Amino acid sequence: MLHPFPTISMQKQPQAWAITPNSQALTELAKGIWDCAKQTQKRPLVVLSTAGPLIGVRAALEQNRPKDLPSNIAFLPQVISFADWLEAAPGAWKFPKKQTDLERWLSVFVNLRKHKVLQSWFKAESEAGAWGLAQAVIDACDSLSEVVVPQLQSELNDLLQTHTLDTEAWLKKVELVLDQAIAKAYVGLSRKVVDEESAVLLTFWRYLTNIGDPVIRKHLAMAAQMHLAKTNAEKDSTTVRPLIWVQTADPKPIDQELIDGYLNDYAQFATVVRVDLTWQSVALWPEALCGLDTEGHIVVANPQEDSQIESNIQVHRQDDWRLLAARRFEELAWTATKSIESHLIAGKKNIALVAQDRLAARRARALLSRLGGALRIRDETGWKLSTTRTAAALDSWLEIMRAPKEGPSASALLEFLQNPYFDLSHSLNTSPEACNGLIAQLEDILIASQAKSGWETFMMAIERANSYAVSNGSSPNAHLIDLISFVRRLHAGWQQSMVDCSSAYALLQKNLQETGMAQRLEKDAAGKQLLKVLKGFDFSSGIYKDVKMRLPEWLSLLKTVIEEASYEEAGQEAQATLSILPLSSTRLRQFDAVVVVGCDEQQLPAFSEPPLFFSDTLNRYLKSSTIAAQYIQQARDLSQLLVSCKNVDLLWQSKSKSGEPLRPSAWIARLQTQLKDWRVVDAKPDTYQGKSQPITMSVSTPDQNLAIPVTVSPSAYKALRDCPYRYYVSNLLGLRKAKEFEEGFDASLAGQTLHALLKTFFQALKTEQEKSHSPIHQGSEARRQWMVDHLMKCSEKEFERLIAGDARVLGTLRDWQKQIPSFIDWQLKRESNGWRYHDAELPIGFTLSLSDPDGVQREIRIAGRADRFDIHESDSTAAAVIDYKNQKMKKIVDRAENILDDPQLLIYARAANENAIAAHLPGRIVGEAQWVSLKAELDKGEDKNIRAHIVEDISDVMAQFSEQIEKDLNSLWARKPMQAFAPDSVCQYCEARGVCRKGMW
Ligand code: SF4
Repeated sequence: MLHPFPTISMQKQPQAWAITPNSQALTELAKGIWDCAKQTQKRPLVVLSTAGPLIGVRAALEQNRPKDLPSNIAFLPQVISFADWLEAAPGAWKFPKKQTDLERWLSVFVNLRKHKVLQSWFKAESEAGAWGLAQAVIDACDSLSEVVVPQLQSELNDLLQTHTLDTEAWLKKVELVLDQAIAKAYVGLSRKVVDEESAVLLTFWRYLTNIGDPVIRKHLAMAAQMHLAKTNAEKDSTTVRPLIWVQTADPKPIDQELIDGYLNDYAQFATVVRVDLTWQSVALWPEALCGLDTEGHIVVANPQEDSQIESNIQVHRQDDWRLLAARRFEELAWTATKSIESHLIAGKKNIALVAQDRLAARRARALLSRLGGALRIRDETGWKLSTTRTAAALDSWLEIMRAPKEGPSASALLEFLQNPYFDLSHSLNTSPEACNGLIAQLEDILIASQAKSGWETFMMAIERANSYAVSNGSSPNAHLIDLISFVRRLHAGWQQSMVDCSSAYALLQKNLQETGMAQRLEKDAAGKQLLKVLKGFDFSSGIYKDVKMRLPEWLSLLKTVIEEASYEEAGQEAQATLSILPLSSTRLRQFDAVVVVGCDEQQLPAFSEPPLFFSDTLNRYLKSSTIAAQYIQQARDLSQLLVSCKNVDLLWQSKSKSGEPLRPSAWIARLQTQLKDWRVVDAKPDTYQGKSQPITMSVSTPDQNLAIPVTVSPSAYKALRDCPYRYYVSNLLGLRKAKEFEEGFDASLAGQTLHALLKTFFQALKTEQEKSHSPIHQGSEARRQWMVDHLMKCSEKEFERLIAGDARVLGTLRDWQKQIPSFIDWQLKRESNGWRYHDAELPIGFTLSLSDPDGVQREIRIAGRADRFDIHESDSTAAAVIDYKNQKMKKIVDRAENILDDPQLLIYARAANENAIAAHLPGRIVGEAQWVSLKAELDKGEDKNIRAHIVEDISDVMAQFSEQIEKDLNSLWARKPMQAFAPDSVCQYCEARGVCRKGMW
């Protein structure tokens, strides 16, 4: 039913008009506005209570422009949202400085410091939780101010009348009035609240409220606008423009009161038309029609209203309203995508995706990205800046900042160094070429050394890798040390328990400059927005510049602010637009088609999180938003949506995550009772048929051009024995393998340290034996004591630096020190059998000659590094090889059972026997080989007796081994097929699993 635009009267009161929120609403509104212009012969000022329909109203005004308008009203009427109108208030420069959200959070923080009574509240909160609570406190304080400040309106009006040029003095007066009002209201309010929580909140409100709050600014701006209208009216009433207030959504009772009073006052100086929405012919449910009563309760419909609803449903029923139920989440997202695609195919250009179910909408968005640039996607639900990779890059730096003084974990360090905004060559002040592969090299070293955390540990790992490179004829990489030193220096800047806001900001900016991140972020759309958000932390000239807080608090504040910020995508021209938006944003907007996802009983209606502090009753008292009001508003929004758009798809997931059935929203079910033929379509994904071939065990035949290594380390040979396919992937194809270290060489820093300290200890023992007065010659007990003490000291010394890097290594040292007495006992026992330590850590190998299938003679070097050789004191031809294992005896026994698959000791024995000079064992034959545990289970008696495990029948086994290795290497050089087979225990840690796809066959 159309309501004609009223005839403007000269009465000094607002005139009421109502429009029907259907598809013609904007046209109707535009015609009314033009009517007002014609009647008053002035260009009206149109203020919309929400900004959503702004563009639609302007477009409708343009389309409905009457012909032959006189020139004085030919311009399009000015349409502005309420928020923009407030910002445009005359003399806004005089207003107190607007506080940002961040500044308001800080004010909570500062007040907490000042007032003990408030602190107990925040005690239990983590840093992030505390900032969240601060936000809730601010929201609650605003609700309280909303109730109290309107009472100040006349005083604020008076204050604006005073034409004082002294802004300071003026602000002081405003402040005084506010303080008095708060003090008065506080007494009244505190009688209303009984629980302790609200009482504390009131205290907060008392302390926090100040003239920079948005609520106060709003009232000042409204007063300023009123003052302008009044001044103009006094000068010449014919110049004052009519004001058309369009109430686009149901206001909160407190806003309703405020605006009613305001429009009444404004009407004294200008024509005022208030436009509301009438639901008579649009409401599809009684609650949408009847709304709330004055008490805030939902009004029950009378029979006449019920029949009006029935008639509305029948009148507005569209054949193109579809109900689509999908069983699973993924199917729901696909169905949404398909619906949107079908609308696009049908030529629709302006489509809305209402995100009742945000996750499904996000997923559908991702699926739609296949359509590329032809579809412009505008996400109005607020894409978080924190989900962009720029925020992840900054976050990787924040992780380094918050690391303890010993240094970050290796994964945190690598994450930061690998972020695409980190400029390595800028940071090291060197050429980009010099940085090629540097971070991959660092990663290899850290992984191979198992350097898990700490600057000292990283340094040690690099130094060892560099010295290893030198001893193997390659060149060390000095940039690696520079890189660690660089990050370490920046990290050191944050080693203070308290930071003040302005210097922390300055330091962060400096870090971003030095790492080249600022420059790279500046070139990125999301990066620019991130830098802008960070700029908000620049308090150098504000009152919060010296606020001190703990570093984790500051970092958490930084993260919370980034978490709150939205990322705005740059728009681009496209053939069609998809707007992803909440239901409320569809108000008074027109779309060619609408797809609503998440229309199940749990998500439609959806209520905002209840305020942390106020009960629904207290909210009612504060005239704030209530659950009932939100319910009514959504019923109206959905009615409006269905009535205004022909093509609406309502989608939901019919089974919950737990497999329980989910029904459609009660609003849909109620409509279905009236519309019997409106059936639910079960959305089924399209099925395609095809024949797949089952994957079989992976087998690869090395290509003729694939180089086969001519040196084989013991562990590479073990890999070949364990699983030929794995050898193919890691050694022949060279996929992801730590190259800096010879495989099998225990590259972990702790393992290396143990090996190194044992070598140092035995060399020292040798030297000590040369000294005739040494205590070690004073009987076996004295010798034992010297050995134990010396090994203890030696261990402390070697581990010292590792522990400085990562204090957890202290545990490894202590475990090892517990082993020392029993290890020495084992050594003494060995000595009593005539064996003496001879040498350690010796590179050693032998060469195999074979001819490949082309008849080419090949020399293959099998080489490694033997842990230790012993010689026999009384048998000048006997020698033994020993391999230290940082493992329990059980593992060593298992190893011994499969010695042919893991023949490390046999390789060393054969190497020493074939080249005794190189092994520093001239004239001797290695006839004994054993593993020695450095991790024996002492409580289980794994001490001096069973710390070692000997290779049985060594000469037989060596003969078998020699035959086997020849056969294996011949097959390898013949490029025979290499199969993937290995026991699960091997596959468990296999890097090549993703390639061989074990588990799929
Ligand atoms: S996962 Fe197992 S079968 Fe596959 S390559 Fe690795 S070791 Fe071989």
